Amino acid sequence: MKAAIVTVGDEILIGQIVDTNSSYIAKALDKIGIGVHEMLSVSDNKEHITDTLTKLQDKVDVVVLTGGLGPTKDDITKKTFCDYFEDHLVLNESVLSHVTQLIEKVLQRPVSQMNKDQALVPSRCTVLFNSVGTAPGMWMEKGGTVFISLPGVPYEMKDIMEKEALPRLMQKYKRPYIYHRTILTYGQGESVIAERIEDWENNLPEFIKLAYLPSPGRVRLRLSARGADEQHLKDAVATEIEKLKILIGDIIVGYDEQETIEVVVGRLLAAKGKTIAVAESCTGGKLAQVIASVPGASAYFKGGMVTYATQSKTDVLGVPADIIRDHSVVSAAVAEAMAQKAREAFWADYALSTTGNAGPDKGDSEAEVGTVFIGFATPEGIYSEEFKLGQPREKVIDRAVNKALEKIYKEILKN
Ligand code: ATP
Ligand code: MG
Repeated sequence: MKAAIVTVGDEILIGQIVDTNSSYIAKALDKIGIGVHEMLSVSDNKEHITDTLTKLQDKVDVVVLTGGLGPTKDDITKKTFCDYFEDHLVLNESVLSHVTQLIEKVLQRPVSQMNKDQALVPSRCTVLFNSVGTAPGMWMEKGGTVFISLPGVPYEMKDIMEKEALPRLMQKYKRPYIYHRTILTYGQGESVIAERIEDWENNLPEFIKLAYLPSPGRVRLRLSARGADEQHLKDAVATEIEKLKILIGDIIVGYDEQETIEVVVGRLLAAKGKTIAVAESCTGGKLAQVIASVPGASAYFKGGMVTYATQSKTDVLGVPADIIRDHSVVSAAVAEAMAQKAREAFWADYALSTTGNAGPDKGDSEAEVGTVFIGFATPEGIYSEEFKLGQPREKVIDRAVNKALEKIYKEILKN
């Protein structure tokens, strides 16, 4: 099963918008076992679109087009699409009533001729209903190929893909079922993990594939099983995950594709009815931003202070000046004092702090570039850890944020 994706629009070709539709569609098709063979972007030009359709017909099983379906003059996909199938446009009553309803009732405007034209579709096409917009999707077949034309507006495209196109594709093609599970790990690099699970990986059943998806401080392991029997795949993957837990249970923090450390930490805090606060220096507010990015964070995030200048650590946070003088600003003692002060100031159960030198040059301290101290204040006590996080600057910041969350996660789990 092979597919091609064609995005139509001069806006894409002049770099004004980024083609995010293709990546969404590719993922969606991949999930149902249709591999994408080619992605193309073409101009709003009849010959160009027609040539592309001709070239792809019988080469792939499915072509998904997006863009150029609107009512304006520059939107020529529909007319071109219709001509390609040697068809003519007819008015579709149910699309017309949907368009009328949407424009008159929801947008409270009179329906124009241009709006009505949205309800014109090729006479032989299967209409793919657009519940969130006016331009319907269209499904046509020619030779051995299905052609699906969708609006360019991302949320409309997604709505039609999910509700109309994918179910029809699944029905039409007996595709293998693909089942993915993602295991989220923290604190060890890809190669260390690979060593720890080598035997397990070598003994995976033929139909289960493992992918390592690394990002700073975290590695996701994705298991993909492919086969005819959905339940069998699920059971087999569950069995493999159980085996994996025995091997690397200490670094597994979650199991969902979408699950990030901040989500996991947040869920844990919420479940335990505990709160957290931060005092940041070298991370400049990123730690607070990441914690607050989780919906529902207000249940456990008390707040944070960014005390970037050395003086502010004393003036705003109340870190004693002599601690800074005696130990230097990038030090375990300062990280610990910052965490303690934040915990007190915010009346939080846990507090995190960062002080370090993200680079590229040395700042107010002699600490090596990439050195970060993270402080932890918990109901059990106060401590800190030193990390050498390398370069460049942005990576140091990201890694420090991840390290802080990863460590506090383990700490919260303990209590
Ligand atoms: P409309 O009915 O709104 O005119 P349309 O099918 O005519 O829809 P286009 O005019 O091609 O779609 O695109 C509408 C908007 O959708 C573009 O301005 C752009 O913001 C967005 N868009 C189009 N194609 C893509 C794409 N491939 N990736 C991301 N966004 C896109
Ligand atoms: Mg348009």
